[in-house]
Amino acid sequence: MSTARKQAGAELLEQLGKSGYGKPPLGCMQCGLCAATCPLGSAMEFPPRNLLLQAASGNLDKLLESPSLWMCVACYACSKRCPRGIELTESLWPALRDAAMQRGIQPPAELQETFQNVLKYGNVLGKSPRARLDWTKSLDVRVLDLSREPRPVDVLWLVGCYPSYYPRNQVVARAFARILTQLGVAWGILGTKEKAVGECDRMFGEEGLFETLVEDNRKLFDKYDFGKLVVLDPHAYRALQNFYPRFGAWYPAQHYTTFLAEYMEQLRPLMVKPVETVVTYHDNCCVGRRCGCYDPPRELLGLISGVKLVEMAHNRDDSLCCGGGGGGMWLDAHIVAHGGQRLSDQRVREAADSGADTLAVSCPYELSRFEDAAKVTGLEGRVKVRDIIELLAEAMDLGERSVA
Ligand code: SF4
Ligand code: SF4
Repeated sequence: MSTARKQAGAELLEQLGKSGYGKPPLGCMQCGLCAATCPLGSAMEFPPRNLLLQAASGNLDKLLESPSLWMCVACYACSKRCPRGIELTESLWPALRDAAMQRGIQPPAELQETFQNVLKYGNVLGKSPRARLDWTKSLDVRVLDLSREPRPVDVLWLVGCYPSYYPRNQVVARAFARILTQLGVAWGILGTKEKAVGECDRMFGEEGLFETLVEDNRKLFDKYDFGKLVVLDPHAYRALQNFYPRFGAWYPAQHYTTFLAEYMEQLRPLMVKPVETVVTYHDNCCVGRRCGCYDPPRELLGLISGVKLVEMAHNRDDSLCCGGGGGGMWLDAHIVAHGGQRLSDQRVREAADSGADTLAVSCPYELSRFEDAAKVTGLEGRVKVRDIIELLAEAMDLGERSVA
């Protein structure tokens, strides 16, 4: 092993130690808790513990070329369990992926396509920015598009890529618009000017693209007068909370579950219709395990008459990941091709085992991931997947039903 190579690995770890993301990785004591807790660790050539060891030993070439590098789905379990406080999820993995791309090593094709979509169109789906408002077409409440009618609002709602474009998520977006209106919130959106927040771009190592998005979004947000940003996407929430401020772009941001939980007393009398269902809630990794927010989603579900809440075997801190974070949304084929499992399939089976007939989620990725998993596992008729927003809207008798 050449000294130069050894140095490159150690330097990278040293830089990460100064980045402010967790404790210095060189403090790793190789206890292996991170690898043991990783849901894909057994399929990785370099699970987290070994990843650190190899980087520290200077084996960067092997690491960066390994398919393992594109298998982390940002579930935060390793970061959460590490007794030394090392932030593997938000620090080590993105840095190694960035280093790989700087050396010309390309990520799996699906990820490359997603980068291109964000770069060209400002959204992960590669749709026209002009179609960003299509979800509002059949909406029966007024939508204030601040890019056309700028005025002060309490809430600037960043609708997000999937809720703007993907038909299944558009239903949720419309339900949220109705709930905000029913609550009397002064809200607005950015219309065709909205762009991806860029969390997944940073997590899978496209630091340059992420910085461009931060800059574009900062300029855009600064044009408007708003009290807070509200997002449906927990990944966007995490980026706004923890990544944007590192570029001097701090905004008060809330995921919709914590935002709506503040309206609990106003919501209570609006629950006019029972929804008879046994629900289990899937804690998403960003708002759940990373930010420790477990009660607000359950409290919102608890408002609905007829809902019986049951827990899956793994819940809260110990929740199983859906496999969609950190670019995982586009990595199922890569992960399966390299011996990993689709984590969404595992989670849907667990939901069915809990006795629930509804799997409640609070992330736009999870709707499509779990609905697909229910089909693949033959559980489609047994477990319905619904966003908490849809369940609340149904209980508030706000029209549109997403699930027959
Ligand atoms: S849990 Fe932390 S200290 Fe233990 S091997 Fe993993 S990174 Fe190192
Ligand atoms: S964040 Fe999750 S998937 Fe990624 S290495 Fe850590 S435990 Fe594994």
